[in-house]
Amino acid sequence: MSKLMVSISGIRGEVGGTLTPEVIQKYILAFAAYLKGGAVIVGRDSRVSGPFVTNIVKGCLSAAGCDVIDIGIVPTPTVQLEIEHYKAAGGIAVTASHNPVQWNGLKFMDKTGRFLNAEKAKTVYDMADRGEFELKDWRELGNEICDDQANERHIEAVLNLSYIDVEAICKRKFKVVADTVNGAGGLIIPQLLKKLGCEVVTINQDPTGKFAHTPEPLPENLIQLSEKVREVGADIGFAVDPDVDRCAVVDNNGDPIGEEYTLALAVKLIFSKKMGRCVVNMSTSRASEDVAKYYNCMFVRSKVGEINVAEKMLEIEAIIGGEGNGGVILPELHLGRDAPLAVALTLQHLLEFGGTLKELHNSLPQYSMVKQKVNIEGMNPDSVLKSIAEKYKNEQISLLDGVKIDFQKSWVHLRKSNTEPIVRVIAEAPTEEEALQLAERFMNEINNLVG
Ligand code: MG
Repeated sequence: MSKLMVSISGIRGEVGGTLTPEVIQKYILAFAAYLKGGAVIVGRDSRVSGPFVTNIVKGCLSAAGCDVIDIGIVPTPTVQLEIEHYKAAGGIAVTASHNPVQWNGLKFMDKTGRFLNAEKAKTVYDMADRGEFELKDWRELGNEICDDQANERHIEAVLNLSYIDVEAICKRKFKVVADTVNGAGGLIIPQLLKKLGCEVVTINQDPTGKFAHTPEPLPENLIQLSEKVREVGADIGFAVDPDVDRCAVVDNNGDPIGEEYTLALAVKLIFSKKMGRCVVNMSTSRASEDVAKYYNCMFVRSKVGEINVAEKMLEIEAIIGGEGNGGVILPELHLGRDAPLAVALTLQHLLEFGGTLKELHNSLPQYSMVKQKVNIEGMNPDSVLKSIAEKYKNEQISLLDGVKIDFQKSWVHLRKSNTEPIVRVIAEAPTEEEALQLAERFMNEINNLVG
């Protein structure tokens, strides 16, 4: 049985294993104490275990004196938007994001509508470990209301963005296949596409939580979507993860263009209209960077993790950003990764481009990325990374998050894991072969250190 994962992205565990009622209670009571009361938005993805977890979450919030606003099955970014809508004290998304069906978890947000950063998360987790909470007496228990309009408001917010020309997209009548993997996306993505005048073909739309395939929207998991795009002759296919913050695109030939290109496309669309700044994480493709440079726009990299990107965006007043795993962030909407946003921006871009999605993808800088890991059991990951950093100190190197080395046409990013004795090796180059070679070179160097 895997361990309970406690990280900057919240907590995740397996149902029937580490994600016990006691664990949920411990973290929710601490979170409620941290918020010091107020209203909390509670939404969940479609997982079968969702009601079990959500009921404990709501009960604990109420016991700690927080009012609960239950918005039902929604994307994680919808919870963020609803915090702003209700001016709530915080929010909880009950989800294990892209993890398989046996997992569930909690993502915490505060009154800013953003996730807790490392410092805030540590405060909550320390409070949880110390058992720091307060139970209210019967007169002060929190109340609960339900609101089933959150998905609708999210759709309207996307349609109202200055970058989206709803009328023009509607006129184009795109034929679109949407694979929402039986996650929360089935309640928002097809509905959004219809409002954009698309002819929509859905697969795995029912939000049953019984995922039709491995839910992470990686190319190898999009076979069904690719086939459907070819079968119906669609202009484009979209896949989202169960909590709808990541979006992957399949082109008109049924070929996945890779999650990295969801963000690169968004960056290009925004900068083609407006000068501004962009923030992406250290592991995001250089395609986005090249696009920003082409438009003479400032490009900054942050540590990996949505909140790190979001806070850097806030700090430098970026107008676009995100993570290469299909997570697009547009501050005009809110500072969080948002798949409905990515869908709308991609269609707007395709409309303005005029050609096919394959042609649009080909118009972007082409890179291939490979992700590997090296077992370093028995070694201190920090000293492994330090040795590599020392060896490459004369290269263009960044130690902001692990070790990132930028070469002329490629880069490699080495990061330790907080849960396993491994170092992740992410390499990008113009071709897959070169990326593999680069990754292998650094895997060998790490192996030599491990001995
Ligand atoms: Mg997710």
